[in-house]
Amino acid sequence: MAYKLLIDGRLIAGARSLHVVNPATGKVFATCACADEQQLDEAVAAAGRSLPHWSALGARQRGEYLNALADAIVRREDELARLLTLEQGKPLAQARGEIQSGAARLRHFAQIELPPVVLRDNEIEKIVEIRKPLGVIAAITPWNFPFSLLMSKLAPALAAGNTIVAKPAPTTPLTSCMFGEIAATVLPAGVVNVIVDANDLGARLSAHPGVAKIGFTGSTETGKKVMQSAAGTLKRVTLELGGNDAAIVLEDADLQAVAPKIFRAGMLNSGQVCLAAKRVYVHRSLYEPLCAALADHANRAIVGDGLAQETEIGPVQNRTQYEKLLAMIEQCRKEGRIVAGGHALEREGYFIAPTIVKDLPDNAQIVREEQFGPVLPILAFDEVDEVIQRANDTLFGLGATVWTSDDRRGLEVAERLETGSVWINRHPDLPLDVPFGGARQSGIGCENGLDGFKEFTQRQIVNIARTGLHPRP
Ligand code: ADP
Repeated sequence: MAYKLLIDGRLIAGARSLHVVNPATGKVFATCACADEQQLDEAVAAAGRSLPHWSALGARQRGEYLNALADAIVRREDELARLLTLEQGKPLAQARGEIQSGAARLRHFAQIELPPVVLRDNEIEKIVEIRKPLGVIAAITPWNFPFSLLMSKLAPALAAGNTIVAKPAPTTPLTSCMFGEIAATVLPAGVVNVIVDANDLGARLSAHPGVAKIGFTGSTETGKKVMQSAAGTLKRVTLELGGNDAAIVLEDADLQAVAPKIFRAGMLNSGQVCLAAKRVYVHRSLYEPLCAALADHANRAIVGDGLAQETEIGPVQNRTQYEKLLAMIEQCRKEGRIVAGGHALEREGYFIAPTIVKDLPDNAQIVREEQFGPVLPILAFDEVDEVIQRANDTLFGLGATVWTSDDRRGLEVAERLETGSVWINRHPDLPLDVPFGGARQSGIGCENGLDGFKEFTQRQIVNIARTGLHPRP
């Protein structure tokens, strides 16, 4: 099957092509169209041409299109999920969940409208706030959740009357291309365009004068580049970036209950989640038992090809990340003590055994830097004030978790953490009606919720001085 670009309603071959590797084998399994600069420009122009019609449709009609798009996705759920596992590595059941949540996101935003808000209305004046679309939105997405992170931008953007140019990561372009194929059967030409690059068109897209806003998920380093490219035209940006989320386990936590949840918080999607637990701080009284429990989970986890039904943890998505993680594990061996995993699996593909590391200093590489993989450091603390200070001692500020048997204490700790979200006694939970965004260098703006929706709109204030000559509008 040929994976094509979608430009102006047509599926087209790329000026270049790209090999896509299955991380479970390390081998090329598909070829994908890859755009050049001219095709990028054509995609932006097509999105611009479709804008007047799409934005004039009104929220209700756009909602009908989005629901039809969700229906079309659900009809091809099996194919999409399988393709997502093949290109990304995640277990098939999780890939299926990602496709389903993408469709749910379309349905959610399909029913949201932002009616005008009357700010003042009296004998001398009326002031109303209305919301308009911004224009062409560039959706730039990473390789960990290629489908849901595309939908998290596309669904609110389209619902608000914008049009889209999507650019997936070059190691996971295929589900976006298949989505393009589906969108071509449902949406008017040009409303959604999908281009693929070789990691070389992001800057041009972010700087493009025809693009009004960038919805970006990726690393903090690349997010800064996006902001720089966007500055020339003062584009709006929503940046969902990296994190180094602390999981804080208070001394009153029920170890039996929390150990599996913390393991999952660290290892979901092979740890390749921006908001994964990346550093576990546990009260010294529970330190040894929690390390032992997490090591036990790590030793029992079934690591394998995401297409195998029993697989719980898939491979790391790409060779670069795999090699970076293996180097980090070697550093862990020097700085601390590995109590589970600590090696690649002896088979083809990018498999790393789930790894638990203890007895590390706070300045260890794995504690300071975002690992983005199945390697979890466990640190001991004595006092709450101390652990809050250590948890906040980072440039990141995405999320955190607190584990305790006392909600009130959990809340006290949560309020002192400098992060965009804190989960107490559960993780992860990202409801569509709740905003999600990072503090500090973990991002700008938010996705989800009404606030996330508004980020795809331009506020306009209409300020009317009443003349008394006409009836009140
Ligand atoms: P990683 O470093 O984990 O591979 P990135 O954050 O670099 O991930 O990538 C996220 C997305 O940003 C990908 O689609 C990538 O192609 C894109 N990208 C890379 N460089 C730039 C850039 N300079 N401007 C905009 N997007 C970029």
